[in-house]
Amino acid sequence: MGISLGMPAVRSRTGAADASVPVPAGVPGLAVSDGLMDRFGRRATDMRLSLTDKCNLRCTYCMPAEGLQWLAKDNLLSRGEIVRLVRVGVEQLGIRELRLTGGEPLVRADLVDIIADLRAAHPELPISLTTNALGLDRKAAALKEAGLTRINVSLDSLHPGTFAQLTRRPFLERVLAGIEEAARVGLGLVKINAVLMRGINDAEAPDLLDWALQRGFELRFIEQMPLDADHGWTREGMVTAGDVRARLRERFVLAPDPRSRDGAPAERWQVFRPGSAEPAGTVGIIASVTEPFCADCRRTRITAEGQVRSCLFSHEETDLRALLRSDASDEQVALRWQEAMWGKPKAHGMDHVGLDAEDYVQPDRTMSAIGG
Ligand code: SAM
Ligand code: SF4
Repeated sequence: MGISLGMPAVRSRTGAADASVPVPAGVPGLAVSDGLMDRFGRRATDMRLSLTDKCNLRCTYCMPAEGLQWLAKDNLLSRGEIVRLVRVGVEQLGIRELRLTGGEPLVRADLVDIIADLRAAHPELPISLTTNALGLDRKAAALKEAGLTRINVSLDSLHPGTFAQLTRRPFLERVLAGIEEAARVGLGLVKINAVLMRGINDAEAPDLLDWALQRGFELRFIEQMPLDADHGWTREGMVTAGDVRARLRERFVLAPDPRSRDGAPAERWQVFRPGSAEPAGTVGIIASVTEPFCADCRRTRITAEGQVRSCLFSHEETDLRALLRSDASDEQVALRWQEAMWGKPKAHGMDHVGLDAEDYVQPDRTMSAIGG
């Protein structure tokens, strides 16, 4: 952002005025206590915080085979900065729910300490973790002990070969062991996220649902979004929410869940086995592309480097890390975050007729670098 001469600047930690970090002006007419409002009347209360851009899988719809250039450790928000930022979000801006994500958050060495600090500061805050579950078998008990509320695990296939094809790593058994241990230590309700790829794992949808129902897990299918490093997404190739429902109806009866959606990204369906009047459980479908829910979006995202993204598909980011590393007050950090969210776009731009509309421009960051 360009700044004009004479604009007040916050001081760096060395005490010098740092012109690259102008004092946040805030949004005219909004008080900090108004929270993370945007121009369209939405208020973000659900914070998605990425802890790292690194990952130990290479899911084809997310990362390139060779990985990405990882951020240097100094560029990541530190444990103390994370704790401060969450405190500002909760105490000043009305954040009600926190999801830790990545990259793969389990690769962060101080994850258990971060969660313990967050829990000590916010005894009632729901804190969940989105993970690929590699190594969760060893860490689940410590995470539970530290105060983690719940986990979301990404699992796209129950076949070792298909799993390896999708993640480019042969680790299905280890992921299943992680999920089992998380359920055993009480990190439930366990939610399972699956992305279906046409001709690879889409026929597995009913098997995945059967598996999840038998274990009391809540399965959610996520439509593949154009956020992959390889730019491999195509409208023809993606499996739509309608395709998922058709696949599931090959084996189950689906009925709309009577509970209110209440801003949740997943549209929930009750699942019945044929001939049974008792639901066997529910399934969620997150149709970000074909049935977008932008009008009800309550999310604010912070990347591992402390950049606010008001939307997954944003092309703009707002730096909070520089403020956190200056002598800025909590209120100044809150004002800058509020400014960033005020500019949240109305919708992500993929929901045109035709969907592969030429005016949709994929953001530079991949899903792993944003924090899904
Ligand atoms: N590594 C963790 C994991 O896989 O759960 C957390 C980060 S990952 C980016 C978060 C979620 O984003 C996962 O559920 C993953 O399936 C999903 N995801 C990644 N790329 C996606 C894409 N292009 N479209 C839809 N979902 C995607
Ligand atoms: Fe890693 Fe998660 Fe991306 Fe897969 S989806 S490559 S596990 S960050």
